[in-house]
Amino acid sequence: MVISELVRETAKSLSDNAHFEAELIVMSAVGINRTQLVLDSRRDVTEEQREKVSEMVKRRQSGEPLQYILGECEFMSLDFYVESGVLIPRSDTETLVEAVIEKTDENKNMKILDICTGSGCIGISTAHFRSSAYVDLIDISDKAIEIAKKNIVRNNVQSRVKVQKMDILNEYPSEKYDIVVSNPPYIETEVIDTLQTEVKNHEPRLALDGGEDGLIFYRRITGIAPEILKKGGMLAFEIGYNQGSAVSALMKKNFCDVRIIQDFSKNDRVVTGILK
Ligand code: GLN
Repeated sequence: MVISELVRETAKSLSDNAHFEAELIVMSAVGINRTQLVLDSRRDVTEEQREKVSEMVKRRQSGEPLQYILGECEFMSLDFYVESGVLIPRSDTETLVEAVIEKTDENKNMKILDICTGSGCIGISTAHFRSSAYVDLIDISDKAIEIAKKNIVRNNVQSRVKVQKMDILNEYPSEKYDIVVSNPPYIETEVIDTLQTEVKNHEPRLALDGGEDGLIFYRRITGIAPEILKKGGMLAFEIGYNQGSAVSALMKKNFCDVRIIQDFSKNDRVVTGILK
């Protein structure tokens, strides 16, 4: 069997996006990039490579997200290592990173805190695009810390990005930052079971569950903001499409210039404010 036949056979076993997913699975199992996939499509595959593909297909058929199976995900045009235990970076979150990058002055060293960092995608991509940024990543999960560390090295920002385990609901850093950014868990507990299989059965509940009203982390972080953010510093949150007014209301007390920003699909996705 040759590479192009293996792609066709793999696509038959997958449903949505079959051909696209089959190509990615074969590229990963055979260890080739897209150019080689096209140029070497007549090259023979080994029995071992076919077995690897069929293992990956089985995982996919059981509803596991493709990104966990491949072990990577693209975000802000950078490569991130992912596995079950951290949320898969979403393109919606790029809107949040853009808001942070826009506020990061290249002429000043800026200290940025990324709370509930997960894979580290927000803080690491900010550091990649802004060489003046020094970023601290925090998360409660040991797995997230381990994966964020790998992503710091993978994206070569280890001189300016540090990661630390911290339970933000019960403690907070002792220094003050220029920007605090967070994509915290924000799904209402009851809603989690109505999400698609890939999300509810495979992504970590810890990264999704924002408590009964979905607002636990927003309440806590806006409350401690005067302790962790410099006066005039920016707080930037990712929010659920229906949380714009609730989160803005929480920010009104300590913040001015509170703005809601929409994502590419025109849903409310980001709230920012400046600490008074
Ligand atoms: N900050 C990470 C991300 O944006 C994880 C978010 C989370 O776990 N809720 O992907």
